[in-house]
Amino acid sequence: MISKSKLVYDFSEGSREMRDLLGGKGANVAEMTRILGPERVPAGFTITTEVCVAYMEADRQEPEGLEEQVSEALGRLEAHAGRELGHARDPLLVSVRSGARESMPGMLDTVLNLGLNHESVEGLAKITKNERFAWDSFRRFVQMFANVCRGVSGESIEAAIERHKAEAGVELDTELDVDRLRALTGDLEALYRQKTGEDFPQDPYEQLRHAIRAVFDSWLGERAVAYRRMNRIPDRWGTAANVQQMVFGNKGDSSCSGVAFSRDEVTGEPEPSGDFLVNAQGEDVVSGVRTPRDISELRGAMPSAHQELMDILRALEGHYRDMQDTEFTVEEGSLFMLQTRSAQRPAQAGVRFAVDAVNEGLLEKHEALLTIDADRLDALLHDTFVPGTEFTILTEGVAASPGAARGQIVFTADDAVTAAGEGRQVVLVRPFTEAEDVKGFKAAQGIVTSRGGKASHAALVARGMGKPCVAGAGALEIDLNAKVARVDGQELHEGDVITLDGSTGTITLDEVPLEEPQMTPEFETVLKWSDEMRTLGVRANADTAEDATKAREFGAEGIGLCRSEHIFLGTKHQSTMQAMIMAETDEERGAALQELGSLQKEHFKALFGVMQGQPVTIRLLDPPLHEFIPNAEELAQQVQRARSEGNNDLAELEHTLDRVHELTETNPMLGTRGVRLAVLHPDVYEMQVSAIVRAALEVIEELGEAPMLEVMIPLVAYEQEVELMRELVDRVVDREGASDLELSLGTMIELPRACFVADLIAQRADFFSFGTNDLTQTALGFSRDDVGGEMLARYLDQDILERSPFETIDKPGVGWLVRLAAWVGREAKPELKLGICGEHGGDPESIAFFQLAGLDYVSCSPYRVPIARVAAAQAAVAETPGG
Ligand code: PEP
Ligand code: MG
Repeated sequence: MISKSKLVYDFSEGSREMRDLLGGKGANVAEMTRILGPERVPAGFTITTEVCVAYMEADRQEPEGLEEQVSEALGRLEAHAGRELGHARDPLLVSVRSGARESMPGMLDTVLNLGLNHESVEGLAKITKNERFAWDSFRRFVQMFANVCRGVSGESIEAAIERHKAEAGVELDTELDVDRLRALTGDLEALYRQKTGEDFPQDPYEQLRHAIRAVFDSWLGERAVAYRRMNRIPDRWGTAANVQQMVFGNKGDSSCSGVAFSRDEVTGEPEPSGDFLVNAQGEDVVSGVRTPRDISELRGAMPSAHQELMDILRALEGHYRDMQDTEFTVEEGSLFMLQTRSAQRPAQAGVRFAVDAVNEGLLEKHEALLTIDADRLDALLHDTFVPGTEFTILTEGVAASPGAARGQIVFTADDAVTAAGEGRQVVLVRPFTEAEDVKGFKAAQGIVTSRGGKASHAALVARGMGKPCVAGAGALEIDLNAKVARVDGQELHEGDVITLDGSTGTITLDEVPLEEPQMTPEFETVLKWSDEMRTLGVRANADTAEDATKAREFGAEGIGLCRSEHIFLGTKHQSTMQAMIMAETDEERGAALQELGSLQKEHFKALFGVMQGQPVTIRLLDPPLHEFIPNAEELAQQVQRARSEGNNDLAELEHTLDRVHELTETNPMLGTRGVRLAVLHPDVYEMQVSAIVRAALEVIEELGEAPMLEVMIPLVAYEQEVELMRELVDRVVDREGASDLELSLGTMIELPRACFVADLIAQRADFFSFGTNDLTQTALGFSRDDVGGEMLARYLDQDILERSPFETIDKPGVGWLVRLAAWVGREAKPELKLGICGEHGGDPESIAFFQLAGLDYVSCSPYRVPIARVAAAQAAVAETPGG
């Protein structure tokens, strides 16, 4: 029971290892107290995160024993400071700050100068001989307490301040004199009374109780909840509350408050960066009320404090072995450190720091690699919004494919192609996308859809092409007939310019400036180290020779998945593919197959040419029919139009519509896909295998080197399916007179049954590649095309999920199936090669899991390859600490 445990820790009792219990701020302040000495760090205590959790669980009731433990800790703090909280003659004042396990900058609440009241403000004025300072501190306290602890609106408080500034004829708070500050404080207290129906509390202990509670309440506030969702911080962690003796940066011109980074927080360059304000408290620096000065100017303003600060930044960096983000105060010339934490940093700063840290001897290579957030490296591979630019969000959707893009709206793939032909930059806006639209993807700068999620084929095609995509922007109502999109009462027409950020899922009408990606020498170095350290192979999912070239450029070691049904997407041959699928007779299909066969052969030749010396896994056709047959709704509209216009095409259109209805399946994702297609129509796979074999023979003849061929069967559930396919492949190879050709035959493992009988399948296959997109879909029963919208949001909101299972592998569920299949597969065939080619193959957290599951390689879209290389190295280091 929590009431029996220790709820409060003095700073002198904590350390950085106690982060989960004391929160980041509490643990680091305690650590700083140890390493810099108590004279540098104001004393205090931390109320643990467990208290916050208990408070939330008990419906906002403090746990038993808290009051007693806080009062004991306060007693120790008072003894240390030689002053009593809020004493009338010489008051101890404290700050009360939040501090979660992971920092949530600006999301949680803080109260400063606590302990001031009508008596102690006079005492403070006398003892500091600085009346203005005392009243400035008091009015700030009333302001913060009213706002943070009692919900008095920031606007009404600001209005009171503005009124006094106007009456005094000044622009800045610092220019208000004592009388003004007294009057302002009186007004703020009146405002407090008016809004809460109570007098401003004079009892310092009551103030403290309220402030601690407010910190815990802020964990449940809207702002904090939204931030946690975005950054995947679990609600159940709670925040600690830190009570710390105040030091004052607002005691005149020899005092200041500031923030300082041990290196430039944007570029990662070695020179420290930061901001400070003379005669101010920390809140002023971050709130933007006054424009702060650059930290380099502190050298001129307060030389010795500046030098001490620079020394401390280096010392902290050396101690934490990471770039630090600190808060400090100079009180009448003396420097105090209030907090330190690992600096959040954009990708380029992260990479720069890692390389410099190794060159400076601060870190070993493997340690430096672990300081990099692999997910953020995306920003170095795509256009991004210029950081810090302010803009208004029009609407939001799923961040389906990273990067920023701008262009005029077009509503059809054909219009995108036409516009691109005219040299115009466009964004393709569709309710959802289908195979037909892929030519529009190529032509457009970016893609927006109002339906669909990250795992939909539209999203993964976009990612494969490196095209930014925001999917499932549900507030967009798209009227394709009128060529207009509506959102929140606004109408967007064809030709209107929009800008999207596929890394965050935002869409704006503002012309946010974009920044091009940069492959810096530091990034190259990090990739080189990663390759030295990783044990997992990294391949790419690439369908065309063009994708394959990109993949090699990004360092892929082979193709782990060529989706052969995607080869003709967006090309003039797409209709042949459609004709094959729509064929009603063997003859019709035969004709289409023949044409596809020779096209595929040429295609595979080109792919083998680019990928010489590296394995190429070609997956035989796996077209979910809804993605490849014409859209029934649109076709029905065409039929109606043709009917009313007396169009000659009517009969043909009607016939096509009938065929579409025949082929339409209720659950196409569970329908005639993958190997099932070949069980129904073996001629389809025969055509493909023969195209692969012929391409290989021609490549051997022309280039003198055999391609490293891997043929893969999708959607296998039964071992007999593999047997049947092996017979089919052997038959075709024989027929082509290529029995000497080395070709390995493997299967996708993407259905739960395949995992359960992996030993039986392994006896008949040379390799497995886990299709974790479909495995997630079929194991969880979530539709990969639809889950991205409201359902996922609700599941995240209610803490059922921490992340989308289509982004990060569901370790206990789907992950278990992967482990099981890897294990029993290798039991049956120890030399079985194991890979993963679902989208999880590019997700750092999942990559760490695949490392532990013993897979041989991951395969992901070409643009994720560098990220996967770094993540794989991190996974190897984590598995074998010490590198
Ligand atoms: C998968 O299901 O994980 C996979 C790679 O195949 P696709 O995404 O093409 O269904
Ligand atoms: Mg699949």
